[in-house]
Amino acid sequence: PPYLLPLNNTVELPEKTRAALDSIEQQFDLPTKKLEEIVEQMLWEFGKGLSEQPTKETKDTFMPMIPTYLQHIPSGKETGTFLALDLGGTNLRVCEVTLLGDSKWTMRQQKYKVSQALKMGEVAALFDYIANSVDQFLTEIGTTGDPNEKLYLGFTFSFPVAQTALAKGTLINWTKGFECKNAVGKDVAQLLQDALDRKHIHVKCSALVNDTAGTLMAAAYERGDCLCGGIFGTGTNGAYVEDVAKITKESKTKEELEQAKKDGLDKMVVNTEWGAFDNERVVMPFTIFDSRVDRISINPRKQAFEKMISGMYLGEVTRNVVLHLVDAQVIFKGFSSKSLNAHYGLDTAIMSALEAFSLPNSDSAADPIASIRKCITKDLGIADELVSDADCVAVARVSEIVGTRGCRLSACALAATIKQTGNDKSDKEVKFGLDGSLVEFYPRFDQRVKDALRELLGEDVVKRVVIDLAKDGSGVGAALCAQAAMAMEAKAKH
Ligand code: BGC
Ligand code: MG
Repeated sequence: PPYLLPLNNTVELPEKTRAALDSIEQQFDLPTKKLEEIVEQMLWEFGKGLSEQPTKETKDTFMPMIPTYLQHIPSGKETGTFLALDLGGTNLRVCEVTLLGDSKWTMRQQKYKVSQALKMGEVAALFDYIANSVDQFLTEIGTTGDPNEKLYLGFTFSFPVAQTALAKGTLINWTKGFECKNAVGKDVAQLLQDALDRKHIHVKCSALVNDTAGTLMAAAYERGDCLCGGIFGTGTNGAYVEDVAKITKESKTKEELEQAKKDGLDKMVVNTEWGAFDNERVVMPFTIFDSRVDRISINPRKQAFEKMISGMYLGEVTRNVVLHLVDAQVIFKGFSSKSLNAHYGLDTAIMSALEAFSLPNSDSAADPIASIRKCITKDLGIADELVSDADCVAVARVSEIVGTRGCRLSACALAATIKQTGNDKSDKEVKFGLDGSLVEFYPRFDQRVKDALRELLGEDVVKRVVIDLAKDGSGVGAALCAQAAMAMEAKAKH
């Protein structure tokens, strides 16, 4: 892939630096052929996940492909006021969302910090904290809903959950640095409802939703038909609209499928949990840096794909490569710093800063070396006198190499979704609603993704692909799911 930072343009690179970078580049390279193999393997895992319930023995050989029981894709006309909870990224969010019915919505929200202690402690403590936050939100911010009616709440819970109904599902495993005790195997909607009831909060958790499914719902509400909701943030995952007939692990009879079609229930949103793709290391090229990141993570041999792509890990992979260059005495005269030595000491946001030179019209485009140097000395804490101009080029290039691999792998997930749904052969517009810090802040994310998509599917397909930034999808999506639950209840009563 074409990297943007020209080597040897303004800065003369010592032979040692150039050779070291060449080697890194080779280890992280994903030529088109490799991308194609990855997409093939991913389609194989899609198929397995749709047809087989995972067992203890097979659960790491294919992605979960979880049916979400979401069968109504919003039209944009939905209305009502709902509470939404969003847990799973950096913060806990409590929102009140009002759907206005013309593809528009308003939102009032409050963020609450989830401490490291809460992430690692007893699950009851985490849910008490969540219930407290809802309580505090209702007291301080209030709601515009009818005070005599129970408020419906949609709960965006961004972890793998084996869903059995719209408001029921058990946690499969934690990801992204969460490790609460006594949670795996429990119904998380029930955990929340119990915590709310303990506090006598008049709120009903009526829908449990993954952030990807929520993002899909929100994108459809705002902009019409959407094939897939994806998150490229702290973690990564995607949910897409699948034919119920292809979810064969749900074993429906022919008659049931025909009835579903008549009732307009022949589609369902499936949560792929693609972050867990290739946990068995069948096709992806793992470098020694990936293995190191994995080994000392709290979930070794899990979330293999996520660990090469998402915000929680990209910086950590980059940090390991940079440290390797330090240890090989290629950069910084062989010296490191406290933050560079620290586990997770290189935040992925620093990669955005390092690569800001690639943004047209940015200040750092004018003098890239100066802005990279500032980043290395300020954010990474390396003493200025240790940093040569060549070191600046080397560090930014490493970031570009690791980030580009992440973007190209991200494209594989989109390509697999397009192929799975036959959209590589249709002539329809194919819409993705994407959210997350990488989509929003990482320079040239969508350009790099689209370049790889073009290699995989050709220009004719890519022309039809629309990638929308679906900001805040998980909040609005949760409200839409609560709305769907309410509509289903009303329908059942009649
Ligand atoms: C979780 C997914 C989630 C994704 C994005 C992953 O770690 O397993 O459920 O959708 O992160 O937040
Ligand atoms: Mg989120």
